[in-house]
Amino acid sequence: MKCYICAEEGKSTDAVAICIVCGMGLCMDHAIRQENEVWTGGYPFPAEKLKETLPRILCKYCSIALKKGNPKGG
Ligand SMILES: [Zn+2]
Ligand SMILES: [Zn+2]
Repeated sequence: MKCYICAEEGKSTDAVAICIVCGMGLCMDHAIRQENEVWTGGYPFPAEKLKETLPRILCKYCSIALKKGNPKGG
């Protein structure tokens, strides 16, 4: 898989990660790693809560979209 964002820019870079939200391939330059609290609730299966955060790989688009959803000051 190639980096989607690089492909948009006319480059061809191998993807090293995949955005967990939209599934787009991302190279090292475009993969955004965010530490987030483990999601709680809203899932149709029982999940244990974890105190630790989990790293998630996001593309820049999803990262921005998720930041907008956070309260002010975050
Ligand atoms: Zn890229
Ligand atoms: Zn994404």
